[in-house]
Amino acid sequence: MFRWLQNQPRLLEAAYDATHNLLRPLRRFLKSGGALEAVFVRGEELTKGPIFDCRMCGQCILHSTGMTCPMTCPKNLRNGPCGGVRANGHCEVIPTMRCVWTQAYERSLEMKHYAGELTNLQPPVNHRLQGTSAWINDFTGVAEQTPAGWVK
Ligand code: SF4
Repeated sequence: MFRWLQNQPRLLEAAYDATHNLLRPLRRFLKSGGALEAVFVRGEELTKGPIFDCRMCGQCILHSTGMTCPMTCPKNLRNGPCGGVRANGHCEVIPTMRCVWTQAYERSLEMKHYAGELTNLQPPVNHRLQGTSAWINDFTGVAEQTPAGWVK
């Protein structure tokens, strides 16, 4: 079931947009810490966990990666594949697994609005956001903050 869903990037993109639009009017109530964030974190674990194998990085870039979680890459790469992708499109580290970035590329081609975002340069992941709510971090702008000295 979830495997099938993972290969429906257009559908997942629509669900992402719908969730974003649903939460947008509530954004002034969304704050980091406290009971509300705990509810969001649990909700994200229960939904994005099984669907995307989400690792709760707190800085979600699914819409930029063909609705494929980059944190499932064994090297946790967020800017495309390493140099070790096998000729069959599988992972250098786990040969039985398709390269996350091969999948991200293929799925991004099917997306309606965000296909071009695959080439966006992503900043280093902020490990202090691990385990926090990606939706709240998105609406509060925390997810957009880049490390000091990091220049795009
Ligand atoms: S990018 Fe981060 S928040 Fe989004 S699915 Fe992957 S681990 Fe979860």
